[in-house]
Amino acid sequence: MAFVPASDLGILDSPEEVLSTMTKDGKRRWLYPVESAGRYLTRRKIVGWALIVFFVVLPIVRVGGKPALFLDVARREFTFVGTTFYPTDTFLLMLMLLTAFVGILLFTALFGRVWCGWGCPQTVYLEFVFRPIERLVEGTEHARKKRDDAPHTGEWYARRALKYAAYIVVAALLAHTFVAYFASWDRLIRWMTGDPRDHWGYFVLMAVTTGLIVFDFAIFREQMCTIACPYARLQSVLVDPDSLIVAYDPDRGEPRGRGKSRDGKGDCIDCFACVRTCPTGIDIRDGLQMECVACTQCVDACDSIMDRVGKPKGLIRYASEHELEHVPTKRVRARTILYSIVFVGLLSAFTFKLATRNAYDVNVGRNVGAGMSAPFITMPDGQIANQLRLRVRNQLGKPVTFTVEAETPQGASVIVIGPSPVPLKPGEMKRVNILVRAPRATFINGTADATFVLRFSDGQSVEEAFPLLGPSR
Ligand code: SF4
Ligand code: SF4
Repeated sequence: MAFVPASDLGILDSPEEVLSTMTKDGKRRWLYPVESAGRYLTRRKIVGWALIVFFVVLPIVRVGGKPALFLDVARREFTFVGTTFYPTDTFLLMLMLLTAFVGILLFTALFGRVWCGWGCPQTVYLEFVFRPIERLVEGTEHARKKRDDAPHTGEWYARRALKYAAYIVVAALLAHTFVAYFASWDRLIRWMTGDPRDHWGYFVLMAVTTGLIVFDFAIFREQMCTIACPYARLQSVLVDPDSLIVAYDPDRGEPRGRGKSRDGKGDCIDCFACVRTCPTGIDIRDGLQMECVACTQCVDACDSIMDRVGKPKGLIRYASEHELEHVPTKRVRARTILYSIVFVGLLSAFTFKLATRNAYDVNVGRNVGAGMSAPFITMPDGQIANQLRLRVRNQLGKPVTFTVEAETPQGASVIVIGPSPVPLKPGEMKRVNILVRAPRATFINGTADATFVLRFSDGQSVEEAFPLLGPSR
């Protein structure tokens, strides 16, 4: 096999480097990671493309008349597979986010950074979309590095322009899909096909989002994982010696060395294949490092080297630190038990709250100032009138109507100011003014406890209590 020196691919100039993506004088070190075919790369490609399809399809597929995932920030409504959360569902959303957060803690304690290497959009789109385009247009990593280091020619500029043109097209598609999660495709298509003067904000939004995507995947790249991502920073507290990591087995590999004679040497032939393939530019043989995104490229690279030299695969493999120290790995341990209990508790609370969530959210308030300067008035027939405001939200996926009546105090009546029954579209929140009249005799010390019943056309009813104000006796 033809070895390309690691330094030829922009990595490991000096063992004293602090950051794999920075030169000694603080400049950016461009990486040229070689793709290594193998069992993990094949599986990661399948998972990666399934996730890409999922990402594209989710805002297109409709469940209950709405996109499967729709984060309508403008209306503060979030829809997940047919269930819409409204601003009044803050507690439910908080439970959902807490459940997801503890789930990440549990997952990381058990499986390390599997998410980073297999599921994170940064890895998936960089490795399976943008780098393949780069290889197609600019050739292999070695050829690209040689061309980049030499004085730039017309060919260099032409290839670079073609690559960026392809990046912009792909980034624009991704930007539209991403924005569709927040605006929906229906609205996006209206913006796209409407008069540009009415939707200039759309063009600005798309230009900025596309620009950020191109910047991230063409320029910033692995630095998102090594410098910017907070999840990487959390690793030191989330991972312990029993967590699954991608690791080099020094007992088997050391002392490393090249040459045909293997006397006294370990299995590592010091070929640098694992370093040349690493997308974050590190040497896995230096031990667990924050920059490692557990992408398994070094596993595939080393496995193919082991095949060639007739040694068993797995010099670099999924293992725990304890396993490498020949200490049995404990999958069940205090932190995984604690995380599991909290996770199941939160998930149960979320499921219970969701299952018992009311179909209608009703709120009663006083409507002082809307035609009445005083909190109550005495009508010519001696009855006391209060003007109130109902805020009613239909949390179902179907249209309904409702009427309002007063159950207490005795003799009270309700006049809806506006059409009655009141129509409510799916998800709609409506404010309705009502005039409540009650006999003067029902007021004690200036108040009378009223109970309102809202009867909905689907047969459900909601009761709300509210104190009426009146004269003190
Ligand atoms: S690929 Fe394997 S054999 Fe080659 S340097 Fe890395 S660990 Fe050693
Ligand atoms: S060390 Fe291996 S698993 Fe970690 S980022 Fe580099 S290639 Fe991927």
